[in-house]
Amino acid sequence: MRTIPHWINGSPVAGGSDTIDVTNPATDQPIATVPMADSATVAAAIAAGVAAFDGWSQTPLSRRAQVLFRFRDLLLENRTDLAALITAEHGKTLDDAAGEISRAADSIELACGGPALVRGGTSLQTGPNIDTKSVLHPLGVCVGITPFNFPAMMGMMMVSVALASGNTFIWKPSEQDPGVCVRIAELFTEAGLPDGVLNVVHGRQDTVEHLIDDKDTEAVAFVGSSKVAHIVYSRAAAAGKRVQAFGGAKNHMIVMPDADLDVVADQLTSACFGAAGQRCMAISVAVVVGESAEPLLEKLQVRAGQVRLGAGEANGTEVGPVINRQSQERIQAAVKEAIAGGARAVVDRSAEAVPGFESGYFVGPTVLADVEVASAAYQEELFGPILVVMRVDSLNEGLELIKNHRYGNGASIFTRDGAAANEFERRASAGMIGVNVAIPVPVAAYAVQGWKDSAYGDTGLNNASWSFYTRPKYVTSRWDSVAGTDFGFRPN
Ligand code: NAD
Repeated sequence: MRTIPHWINGSPVAGGSDTIDVTNPATDQPIATVPMADSATVAAAIAAGVAAFDGWSQTPLSRRAQVLFRFRDLLLENRTDLAALITAEHGKTLDDAAGEISRAADSIELACGGPALVRGGTSLQTGPNIDTKSVLHPLGVCVGITPFNFPAMMGMMMVSVALASGNTFIWKPSEQDPGVCVRIAELFTEAGLPDGVLNVVHGRQDTVEHLIDDKDTEAVAFVGSSKVAHIVYSRAAAAGKRVQAFGGAKNHMIVMPDADLDVVADQLTSACFGAAGQRCMAISVAVVVGESAEPLLEKLQVRAGQVRLGAGEANGTEVGPVINRQSQERIQAAVKEAIAGGARAVVDRSAEAVPGFESGYFVGPTVLADVEVASAAYQEELFGPILVVMRVDSLNEGLELIKNHRYGNGASIFTRDGAAANEFERRASAGMIGVNVAIPVPVAAYAVQGWKDSAYGDTGLNNASWSFYTRPKYVTSRWDSVAGTDFGFRPN
């Protein structure tokens, strides 16, 4: 079985005797082992980042960008192989995994613009002969902790801007699908990134705590569940570190009475069930305004019933397995509990097995109606292909539901009415808003940013993170002429 190493100082490293298996979720078979870093390995990664910082931070911006340009090409040239790695460890379909690599490249393309984007400003004559300017310095060794669901893309949303700004980086990927992260680090080395600038260490809570607490790390970026995001946010803040921590979600889609229900049903089918619902921007609640709920449920019943569940590698699969057995059992139990609590199962494929893959962690598309607001099925992030359909009388009522939910990552509306769309855009309490777009993840030139318990900290990912990865310095300077030394350039 393949061993997935750490990547420290430009080389694979075996550190740590505690190893865990990486399992193919479609087969329940171990396909690789990965060492959990011991303390010496984490310290070695931090030391490599410290040692590389001076050289990288003083490398001209354009030379840093050239490395990113070369890496972007390698990323896309290797897209098929990288997608296969993701699919084997995560379970998502090959097309979906290839799409993830394209989104990762989008973040790198943003960072290729570093020479134009990493800059401060200057004001002339802020006093007599006084100019004031701001300059941006990189921080030092930055840390990124990423979730299992986008093993390549979330890391690239952090690494891209961090490196373009002149920082060095330690990436602690999810231990459940770490293979692609190490391959990405190899490609960075191939692209000419100096050793030690990007390091990958595998581990769990103790590794994360070490990375946060170490005096030589400067900033911590986290993406994962809200529970852990809050732990990381609090611990990093207590250690005096910069921190941005992105958490979970329960994204609502408002369906207005004038919406085209066929379009809505198609969009919901892919936005809720795609990647087995394991997207932080998946739609998991449809809020139908007025009388369209039953006709929409009829259409969803047909579509959810037709979605092809299967191994991510198999031709024609539309929905793969969830990440592990615990997730499968947790989601199946949540569906049972909702139905026992009075929810109507319009479609329940939650316990469906896939022929030939009976041991896989499959949960089929499921649509629940008549769900109580207080129920766990509505309040909690299930992170599976489960759609809750609610009915309300007005847009206001729908907006209230969104406002009162603890999460505020994304929200969307489907309507043909511009005024309703504007009202929604202004009032919906979420960081990413879609108007006739079900999964409104902004391009990298904007940002990924949640509200409420979906994000702790005030800077987003991608183009909103230049200030996170740099610290400003303000310089006030005064140059008066000294008699006899003005070389005749002064007018008087
Ligand atoms: P998770 O919180 O279990 O793990 C995330 C990372 O934290 C992993 O690297 C893990 O090893 C580490 N970790 C786990 N427990 C820890 C602890 N006690 N202390 C320190 N580190 C710990 O999340 P997951 O299951 O890998 O990912 C799914 C979650 O990520 C979902 O909630 C999803 O909504 C969220 N997510 C959010 C966004 C966003 O942009 N807001 C994007 C992607 C995923």
